[in-house]
Amino acid sequence: MKAEIIERFTSYVKVDTQSNEEITTCPSTPGQLTLANQLVEELKTIGLEEVTIDENGYVMATLPSNTTKQAPTIGFLSHVDTATDFTGKNVKPQIVENYDGNDIILNKELNVVLSPKDFPSLSNYIGHTLITTDGTTLLGADDKSGVAEIMTAMAYLVQHPEIKHGKVRVAFTPDEEIGRGPHKFDVERFNAKFAYTVDGGPLGELEYESFNAASAKITVKGTNIHPGTAKGKMVNSAKIAMELHNKLPVAEAPEYTEGYEGFYHLISFNGEVEETKLSYIIRDHDRDLFNARKDFMKKIVGELQEKYGQDRILLELHDQYYNMKDKIEPVMEIVDIASQAMKNLDIEPKIAPIRGGTDGSQLSYMGLPTPNIFTGGENFHGKYEFISVDNMVKATNVIIEIVKLFEEK
Ligand SMILES: [Zn+2]
Repeated sequence: MKAEIIERFTSYVKVDTQSNEEITTCPSTPGQLTLANQLVEELKTIGLEEVTIDENGYVMATLPSNTTKQAPTIGFLSHVDTATDFTGKNVKPQIVENYDGNDIILNKELNVVLSPKDFPSLSNYIGHTLITTDGTTLLGADDKSGVAEIMTAMAYLVQHPEIKHGKVRVAFTPDEEIGRGPHKFDVERFNAKFAYTVDGGPLGELEYESFNAASAKITVKGTNIHPGTAKGKMVNSAKIAMELHNKLPVAEAPEYTEGYEGFYHLISFNGEVEETKLSYIIRDHDRDLFNARKDFMKKIVGELQEKYGQDRILLELHDQYYNMKDKIEPVMEIVDIASQAMKNLDIEPKIAPIRGGTDGSQLSYMGLPTPNIFTGGENFHGKYEFISVDNMVKATNVIIEIVKLFEEK
């Protein structure tokens, strides 16, 4: 299985599928469609049925039931796009066999080293086969590892009809990294009772709680006048923006929070005297605290509007996604089954709240409860991204085991 996974994964990462927030088409970039079409051919080749790709680049396929029992239809999803943070062009995956625990030179010329000094978790991978970058791109394990694992699990199930299972649906989706993955996902056509995104990190990760998420975009309008004659006339928008930011609680920022602690995160601050734009994201697992954070943002904007004038400060506040826990807890057996599947394979499930969102955060609210399971990758979205092939095999086996357990229940 290892060789099969390496072959699939390395072929997927060679296609540049970086998504792009600035572009409104779906998928946002043509590379995603290239990979989607490649996956369609592969799904047909391994023998899945009802293989489709729609006009938005969503790929779906069916592994038909082979049991006489009544098992629910379950789904597995992963996204084909890669992060906007770092380039995914010309990815040259490097394979490290039997990792010895020492520094891995990613790029000699550029002196890029993946070192256990900086990434102590590397010590978990001694003896593993690792796939790394060449130090100039991200790897795309997020989430092409999920694609490779789902594909390999389906191929295995086709080749092993003695393993009984209900109907399984799989989907490969675009534009997750720009938050649009589920936007055009046809839940009705997918027609599964539950699904799992295979989009997590290290071995054992199992997640069914995400943040509640909103974005706040603030525009401050100033009045620029020659500084020599500015007295009583100039309004410096950058300084009002600083005043606004200073009203936020200092400790409630990503760099000071963990676990269930929420935050306000200043993503960008672009300004001069005449106009300043601030972009924030607001996050909290708890819905009441989330709403309180949004109210607080409105309150401080209100205070400054009162001080400087209503039209000087504009706030655009938009909800982005909600904590999927509210939709998953009523069907908690889907988390229990995933947890049991891991235990059956001697993997310790690590259930923790995601400090972010997944496609499942939106899909769960669209009627498809969707927790998230590990892929085996680490350091996503940058040049130090790597993945253990040994743990990719385990993720593949977890998918197979989940399918089995749903049939046995
Ligand atoms: Zn992902």
